[in-house]
Amino acid sequence: MWDFETEPEFQEKLDWIDQFVADEIEPLEALLSARAIDFAKFMKRRQELKQIVKDNDLWACHLGPELGGKGYGQVKLALMNEILGRSGSAPGIFGAQAPDTGNMEILAHYGTEDQKERFLKPLLAGEIYSAYSMTEPKGGSDPTSFTTRAQLIDDEWVINGEKWFTSNGQFATILIVMAITNPDVSPYDGTSMFVVPKDTPGVNIVRNFGTGSEPIGHGNHAWIKYEDVHIPKENLLGTEGKAFAIAQTRLSGGRIHHAMRSVAQLKVCLDAMCERALSRHTKGEILAQKQMVQEQIADVWTDVQMFRLLVLQSAWKIDKYQDYTKVRKDIAAVKARLPEVLMKTIHTAMHLHGAIGVSNELPFARMWQGAPSMGIADGPSEVHKVTVAQQVLKDYEPHDGLWPRLHIPSRQEEAKKKLAWLLEEEMANA
Ligand SMILES: Cc1cc2nc3c(=O)[nH]c(=O)nc-3n(C[C@H](O)[C@H](O)[C@H](O)COP(=O)(O)OP(=O)(O)OC[C@H]3O[C@@H](n4cnc5c(N)ncnc54)[C@H](O)[C@@H]3O)c2cc1C
Repeated sequence: MWDFETEPEFQEKLDWIDQFVADEIEPLEALLSARAIDFAKFMKRRQELKQIVKDNDLWACHLGPELGGKGYGQVKLALMNEILGRSGSAPGIFGAQAPDTGNMEILAHYGTEDQKERFLKPLLAGEIYSAYSMTEPKGGSDPTSFTTRAQLIDDEWVINGEKWFTSNGQFATILIVMAITNPDVSPYDGTSMFVVPKDTPGVNIVRNFGTGSEPIGHGNHAWIKYEDVHIPKENLLGTEGKAFAIAQTRLSGGRIHHAMRSVAQLKVCLDAMCERALSRHTKGEILAQKQMVQEQIADVWTDVQMFRLLVLQSAWKIDKYQDYTKVRKDIAAVKARLPEVLMKTIHTAMHLHGAIGVSNELPFARMWQGAPSMGIADGPSEVHKVTVAQQVLKDYEPHDGLWPRLHIPSRQEEAKKKLAWLLEEEMANA
């Protein structure tokens, strides 16, 4: 059965979220950006808003009840993120922010009871933050080229290596680190995942990278050197040698969540475009009456709708199969298409607003600067397109013979053989 409607009870919750973001979160962010309040005050109010969300039973509610959530799943999370994603801090206030959501998923999935108690519980409660430390300076798209090493010495893992672009590394209490534990086998069997408390001696942040026009040294993507970092044996996450499987779970969740939040940005652009087209007069008519503007609105609406439906359908498949490996193609397709749709849509909205559109007094230029990161973070688009193609091709067989299966004369010959009785009937009647 196909059903594209939101159930009324959940729509009520979405309406509440929408209002809460508009009344409480967006104005708070505006005060911070105007420097009318300092960061400490902002964070204090943020904590209070988190509590309101918890009181309304909407905290991290995509997670299962065993993890303190309501088990809403990914489709409902997608619908929530279509609202939350329009604000930088709303996902965090609802317990649905990157990179914590993906990290929570792997801790829940692969963590021991002790790890869940020590790391997952405070993460879920929003008391600590986490980061995912996988990419290395010499190679991000190819994890088989990583060199960070973990050795088991006297019941402790000792980690040495270098990671960069660890988002949120500066604020995180725990880092999830991927390191080689057995260099004598293929990296697919010899790489493991660890939970590293950031205050462990030897975890040294070299500096933070920003994106776009953030000043050098500022930003939220840490370059970290792991220098003789000793962690207890028990901090191995999952089975030794299974980091690649864990990474797939981690990154698949992260990728689809980014896409869900990006749908919110696409909607912001579409809404702004429509409003502007109806408000701005030029040469005796509103922009909305110009055919080229109508074409832009039609194209953006269609792109947003197509992308949103692909995201929702992928979320639905995750809920249905409860197994990311069965939704690999869909998530890779979403991930590859995301930066393209985002950049095109933001650019069109920015352009339609003219000078004020490209200025620093509307959000488009900042959004546009952030969009290319979506084509790099969690793997570049090319790699995801390869995955889509490989998965699609798995469902096909080569076709023998000179002519492609659609060759019209060949099909006519086949039809003559198959329906010979019909031809005979035709001849008899002639
Ligand atoms: C904003 C942001 C946040 C990030 N957060 C994190 C994080 O929290 N944790 C973490 O571990 N990492 C993080 N990363 C790093 C990210 O995962 C890597 O940047 C990404 O995997 C690409 O690796 P790279 O930068 O080394 O690029 P490279 O591997 O050098 O790739 C560069 C380019 O080469 C081309 N290319 C590469 N491989 C192929 C291929 N197979 N086929 C065709 N072309 C190819 C593509 O054009 C690609 O864009 C983040 C990155 C950004 C930008």
